[in-house]
Amino acid sequence: MTRIAIIGGGISGLAAAYSLEEHRRAGAVEYRLYESSPRLGGVLRTEQIEGCIVEAGPDSFLTEKPWAADFCRALGLGDQLIGSNDADRKTYVLVRGRLIPLPDGLMFMVPTRILPTAFSPLFSWSTKLRMAKEFFYPPRGHDRDESVASLVERHYGAEMVDRLADPLLSGIYGGEAANLSVRAVLPGFVEMERRHGSLGRALLAARKKMPHTAGKPAPPLFTSVRKGMEQLVETVVQRLHKNSLLLNAPVQSIRREDHRWAVSAGMKTDVYDAVIVALPAQATAKILSTTSPELGRELAGIGSSSSITIGLGYDRGVRRSLPPGFGFLVPRSEGKQLLAATFVHNKFPHRAPEDRALLRCFFAGSSAERIWPLSDDALVSRVRNELEQILGLRAQPIFSRVYRWKSVMGQYGVGHLERLDRMERQCQVLPGLALAGNGYRGIGVPDCIRSGQEAVKRLLAGKV
Ligand SMILES: Cc1cc2nc3c(=O)[nH]c(=O)nc-3n(C[C@H](O)[C@H](O)[C@H](O)COP(=O)(O)OP(=O)(O)OC[C@H]3O[C@@H](n4cnc5c(N)ncnc54)[C@H](O)[C@@H]3O)c2cc1C
Repeated sequence: MTRIAIIGGGISGLAAAYSLEEHRRAGAVEYRLYESSPRLGGVLRTEQIEGCIVEAGPDSFLTEKPWAADFCRALGLGDQLIGSNDADRKTYVLVRGRLIPLPDGLMFMVPTRILPTAFSPLFSWSTKLRMAKEFFYPPRGHDRDESVASLVERHYGAEMVDRLADPLLSGIYGGEAANLSVRAVLPGFVEMERRHGSLGRALLAARKKMPHTAGKPAPPLFTSVRKGMEQLVETVVQRLHKNSLLLNAPVQSIRREDHRWAVSAGMKTDVYDAVIVALPAQATAKILSTTSPELGRELAGIGSSSSITIGLGYDRGVRRSLPPGFGFLVPRSEGKQLLAATFVHNKFPHRAPEDRALLRCFFAGSSAERIWPLSDDALVSRVRNELEQILGLRAQPIFSRVYRWKSVMGQYGVGHLERLDRMERQCQVLPGLALAGNGYRGIGVPDCIRSGQEAVKRLLAGKV
């Protein structure tokens, strides 16, 4: 029987465990999952407060990435999947203290409709002129990676980086557009630039080629689980073998010994044929550094960023006073700590009763680091102060909750894919080791689920 250790009980590790479960039942595999904390799910955590469903970590996942919804269906949660309320989808950007809606036809940060963009006060005339010129941008190939900011600036100028690229990406990666690898984060843009030159023309061409879906409503942009993301965790955990799950079991090191893997947690060391490390890259670096200092260095080089979310519940009056739409983004040039806020009651209406407004405020990367030392109360007053400046919101919240996530998000710096290639070569001399999680080939919940599932596939196929 093959013995496999999974390290980390976030969604990546749980997806790996679920993939191993049927092999365990068939008697072919024995697995054990080590989780350092007293609970499973990692950053997926949901609280019910005053009738509101408050997400401490992710609140949903991108519908176009199928692995999370497929996983939910496999678990029998198909009827619990809910879509975002896209009929009311509107996102604002704070520009010189005013909330300006994103114009129609903007795909990520690429304008595909002339009039709404031309009349939007979101961009200055010089940026609008660059957008028009961008349509004539010639194809351009690269043999080198560069930052997202550098590619976007080449096409649309620095204002586009500041007002859109950077806030959109910091909301996802917790990092800054100036540091993120365009090849790892926006590979589609690199390919569009290589083939078409202009991103605007490339997207229009892609749209024309899309299958005709006349009469069919477009799928929602975001999907979630009815009772919150933790419902997914609870459901997976119910399907796993209880004795295979070790809580309060922080792994200190994994070492290669006699062609097997020795996993040390607390005072105990156990030996396995294979190990799946499903931790943030920084944590993976620590436990692997003795076995492979080289791999440890590469992992440490990926790095991880921290984030803070603050959930605030308000009464009916506030709900009426807030603007329609999903929420707003705050460019760094506005001088605030807040990066984004979601009006949850609009995005997923059944997450708050009709007489409640639910706000989810997000800080990440350097803005989270700056305010990290503050107490929860001080954080709430800081965010209330910024909400007052942005929304004129002075009301006392009915409840507030602060959630801190230290070093949990992988940072895909320039050269990330080359780093992954080097790491793959280093892993070849460490048979039976598979890495999963958000530090490698995708940061969102769907990619993490896929990473856990693929780690199992590769191990069982003897490919690692
Ligand atoms: C605030 C926030 C909002 C997000 N929003 C979204 C969103 O809306 N949509 C989306 O798709 N994605 C979102 N993400 C990203 C996504 O949620 C994460 O990338 C993903 O859930 C990470 O899962 P994971 O299992 O790889 O890691 P984690 O969830 O970090 O799990 C790792 C687990 O390993 C444990 N651990 C750590 N060290 C050890 C050790 N030495 N031994 C044993 N166990 C250890 C930890 O306690 C933890 O439980 C968000 C992330 C955050 C933090």
